[in-house]
Amino acid sequence: MKRKTKIVATMGPATDQPGVLERLIAAGVDVFRINFSHGKTAEHAARIEQARAIATQQGRDVGILCDLQGPKIRIENFADGAVELVEGQPFALDTALGAAAGDASVVGCAYQQLPDDVAAGDTLLLNDGAIALRVEKVGGSRVDCTVTQGGMLSGRKGINKLGGGLSAPALTDEDLANIRYAAEWKADFLAVSFPRTADDITRARDLLQAAGGDAWIVAKIERAEALEHLEDILKAADVAMVARGDLGVEIGEAELPGVQKRIITLSRELNRAVITATQMMESMITQPIPTRAEVLDVANAVIDGTDAVMLSAETATGRHPVRAVEHMGRICIAAERQLTPERANSRISQHFRRTDEAIAMATMFTARFMHADAIVALTESGATALLMSRINSTTPIYAMTRHPSTRARMTVCRGVFTVDFAPTNLDTSKPVGEAIQVLVDRGDLENGQRALVTKGDFSGPGGTNTMKIVTVGE
Ligand code: PGA
Ligand code: MN
Repeated sequence: MKRKTKIVATMGPATDQPGVLERLIAAGVDVFRINFSHGKTAEHAARIEQARAIATQQGRDVGILCDLQGPKIRIENFADGAVELVEGQPFALDTALGAAAGDASVVGCAYQQLPDDVAAGDTLLLNDGAIALRVEKVGGSRVDCTVTQGGMLSGRKGINKLGGGLSAPALTDEDLANIRYAAEWKADFLAVSFPRTADDITRARDLLQAAGGDAWIVAKIERAEALEHLEDILKAADVAMVARGDLGVEIGEAELPGVQKRIITLSRELNRAVITATQMMESMITQPIPTRAEVLDVANAVIDGTDAVMLSAETATGRHPVRAVEHMGRICIAAERQLTPERANSRISQHFRRTDEAIAMATMFTARFMHADAIVALTESGATALLMSRINSTTPIYAMTRHPSTRARMTVCRGVFTVDFAPTNLDTSKPVGEAIQVLVDRGDLENGQRALVTKGDFSGPGGTNTMKIVTVGE
């Protein structure tokens, strides 16, 4: 059985090791993520080039996702490297303190608006929630706190406010430069970190387009405020990411399961793809097998309806990057077997304004009740394949197109398999027969099986207006 849920793997020093990329692509990575929070520009460029070259060698389509660092607010450094914070003791953050002048009583913070964004009674969480501070008093450049959860603290760790509200603008100067690189490298996806509103997404898209890029925009949902504007943010974006690391710190980790389900469900309803991210196979950074809890987490994300599951440090710096992908792939396939296509009629009461959406939904309905063996989308932009893959179905969708960038974007869509296909004859009926033959030659279809083919009468994006029912060999 082919895996329908997609795997996003972050690149890093571990994927630079000889032979690792080859094995990762062979193990089934669909999208590679470049994390602008770590590494140098030249390293990122080299990794992208290598991943694409190896994918081409293996005859595979992979997508490239460039992930902007965004305005992560961090503490500065400690004179002695690290300090131990003790519960009940005072500790302060001071935006006027030197960058390496921190000690056990105070540390610097380069984000000058910090005192404006916090008030007495707020909870600040450092290092992804490992350290908690209660704000006692705000004055001038200084935020005086009491340690409510202690531990070791080293420099440059992130600061979040419980409930959200640290309001640095979503795009930093560094992000602007990296957007231009993403355009230059023809990234397939651009992820915006810490967006607060739909405007943050639109602004990133405008800047990317101005730089000549046309990547799909990924909205990382990792701020409490983003949940208040979730629908607008998703509508402005193409893909959502359930960024459980920062989001868990902001809303409290106990809220994550419900919020994950909400983001996934809404993304699919709004015809957006969705990636579930962070700590999915965390123990595999050092261990050769995942914990049972991690197995259940990946499987539950699949059952929730995610398009893709993501690996971060597991593949970027972990000891077992290839095994992490292999385990994840197996868990996805087993989870997919638990699903029935009962949601196929979920849009039965909806009005469609677009022709391609009406055709897409009619095709999914037919696939469900006629037990089709395959859906074949002859597509330019991938729009019809995306729309069809929003419906939970057990029928594979083959997105067949000659455009490499369309195929690369489809790598994130659950249940969509990409095929490089350029009809030799653009006569209106011939491409269907040619496409079916390609799938037969690949072993995806055999005589007697039934395929539903969607296509447009004219070439050009967004033009799908036809569904054809084909029995292979007849
Ligand atoms: P990050 O985003 O890995 O860039 O922090 C994902 C998350 O916060 O979960
Ligand atoms: Mn994050």
